[in-house]
Amino acid sequence: MIVLKLKKGDILLLLIVLIAGISYFGLKFLYKDTAEKTAVISVNGKEYDRINLDKLEDEKTIHIDLGNGKYIDIVANDEGVHVSDVVCPDRICVKTGIIDRVGESIVCLPNRVQIFIEGNEIPEVDIVSQ
Ligand SMILES: [Zn+2]
Repeated sequence: MIVLKLKKGDILLLLIVLIAGISYFGLKFLYKDTAEKTAVISVNGKEYDRINLDKLEDEKTIHIDLGNGKYIDIVANDEGVHVSDVVCPDRICVKTGIIDRVGESIVCLPNRVQIFIEGNEIPEVDIVSQ
């Protein structure tokens, strides 16, 4: 048994490290649960806009002019995000409907528009210094 060879102080230290580790991961999970959702809109592979869905007070419509008379209207409200109107041959983006979960996305291939919901970065918490 390796534990028997440890001094009292060592075991205490080990316990502290363990507890700190557990509470650190516990906090991480807590943050994950309350993570804010952000809809990231990208056009042609470039980020166009970010909408924080948790801080959204009113319904927000993002009209993106895609040139050549083409456009896409994206609506964000408390239900999620969806494409309300678009000039698009297949309209798959409209048919996708509302997305509201982290990891979900709407893709408009013909217009090269993508809407993706991501969870906010988990802030690093320095427990040792507190
Ligand atoms: Zn489309």
